[in-house]
Amino acid sequence: MHIARWVCGLVLICLSVSASAGPFVVAEEQRPQSLAPYLRILVDEQGSLGLQDVTAADSQRRWRASEIQGTNFGFSSATYWVAVTLQNPTAEPVGLILRQDYPLIDQLDFWQPAADGSWSLTETGDRRNFHSRPLNLRDFVFPITLPAHTTQTYYLRYQTAGSMNIGLTVSSETAFLPQLGKEQILLGIYYGGFLVLVIYNLFLFMAVRDRAYAYYMGYAVSYGLYFGVHNGVSFQYLWPGNPWLANQSLLILLGFTLIFGIQFVRTVCSGPQLAPRTDRVARWLLYLLFPLTAISPFVSYGPMILSLAILTLVLSMLFMVMGVISLLRGSVPARYFLVGWGALLISVVIYMLKTFGLVPHNSFTHNAFQVGALVEMVLLSLALGARVGEIQRHGITDQLTGLFNRRYFDEQLPREFTLATRNNTPLALLVLDLDHFKAINDRLGHARGDAALCAVGQLVRKQVRKPVLACRYGGEEFAILLPRTTPGQAVIVAERLVKLVAELKLDKMPLTVSIGVATFQHGNYASAIQLFEAADAALYRAKQAGRNRLELAPSSPDPVVSAPAVESAG
Ligand code: GH3
Ligand code: MG
Ligand code: MG
Repeated sequence: MHIARWVCGLVLICLSVSASAGPFVVAEEQRPQSLAPYLRILVDEQGSLGLQDVTAADSQRRWRASEIQGTNFGFSSATYWVAVTLQNPTAEPVGLILRQDYPLIDQLDFWQPAADGSWSLTETGDRRNFHSRPLNLRDFVFPITLPAHTTQTYYLRYQTAGSMNIGLTVSSETAFLPQLGKEQILLGIYYGGFLVLVIYNLFLFMAVRDRAYAYYMGYAVSYGLYFGVHNGVSFQYLWPGNPWLANQSLLILLGFTLIFGIQFVRTVCSGPQLAPRTDRVARWLLYLLFPLTAISPFVSYGPMILSLAILTLVLSMLFMVMGVISLLRGSVPARYFLVGWGALLISVVIYMLKTFGLVPHNSFTHNAFQVGALVEMVLLSLALGARVGEIQRHGITDQLTGLFNRRYFDEQLPREFTLATRNNTPLALLVLDLDHFKAINDRLGHARGDAALCAVGQLVRKQVRKPVLACRYGGEEFAILLPRTTPGQAVIVAERLVKLVAELKLDKMPLTVSIGVATFQHGNYASAIQLFEAADAALYRAKQAGRNRLELAPSSPDPVVSAPAVESAG
């Protein structure tokens, strides 16, 4: 945003024309009106002039009219004098509100003529205590009374290390108050949204204990406060007695936003695992940001905000790259991240287009950047949810084959057994063990062995679909649970698997499988464990009978066979 203001300031300086701006004629019920076309501006490079100097007749030729929308002069060490003439043609005095709507001006002095012809001076600005303002509001708001049938000129003196953004509007007191009320409720909704996201994610952090949530909260808090400083509400409500913080906090908060942002994006996009090279760049920028943020309050503002703005730009692109790489490598959270980040970037583009006058200036385009940031925060919160989902999935899947792991199977087996008992439906169990796998490993190497396991895993996954539960039970053992499947159907599935594994032909690797099949039906087994033991015993018999085949367990358990079979299998 600062870069936009900066570049824009240069453009606007070139555009400004020398002419004399006439007085602005106020209406009885004056709605908020930008005074930009009615301002006269005098640039005092040395900052040495006083009110007498600028009002003196010989300095009249140094005043320039500004006939452009918005008056942003970028970064300037000069002092800017602004004169504005207001005319009240009515027979009644009107109560008016003169408002400077960019609240980050360091020193702002305002002169209005008093009844006795003298000048009454108000000295304020955000380098001065918050209570120096005439009204306790986030912007600089000067109430004035314009007598009937009069034309009066008011003077303002701007001096600031940041963006010289002169945004003056005038409105009648009666029109100002409803406008203010509307703005306050919108700000309340905006910061309320941030607060809700932070609190919501704090609870999730306490429940899940994933550090990505901590980074998210750090990011949301510093980003929210950063906007708070921009809008002037942080100074108003958080540290009204501390002008130093009011000014320097912008840099510190931007630094923190970037630091937490980097850590958040790296974590949520699994940068170190999925995009290691981009991640390394991000890490170097992170190391650069630590000292920059630490020294930021103590060095001069202009160069500091410029370097942070450049870093922001570089990081925006880097995050996009990391998100895309991580998406292409299968990350689900990266989807939400990219949508969120895209929303933010689009809003920044809209804001820039508005700043350059390419799209109309309205409350949507003016606030696009801030609204985009909140939308981004919501989507990033969804990315966190997706990440937790992914972590949970990792916890129950086997890395090598993508099937479920044994832990999950051990959880599900008793559950399915209870369901089958309650619904009186059959439940079939297949236990598979690859034949002579040790020999294959020894001959062809562990890597080829792993590839074979992968291929069998894929085959199993393709052959059996939900609600079937297939898992890698041990090294080269698999277990498949088939709810509502009769012994006859289970045998068909097992026969197909035996045949398909033998046909796999992985580089002429002689790969076969033996399968034990047991079916729970009409209460033939007392527990899930008994069912498993029966299938395992059948597998043992299949091995003994020469392998590359299946064996069906007897329809009711045989305690003499099942006990030793458990030890010998696997
Ligand atoms: P059989 O089952 O037909 O009696 O003979 P086997 O050679 O398969 O015997 P067993 O089941 O006892 O041996 C399992 C072998 O599987 C031991 C080990 O070399 C191999 N193995 C176990 N886990 C893995 C793994 O994750 N990757 C690879 N490549 N091999 C594994
Ligand atoms: Mg084996
Ligand atoms: Mg085995």
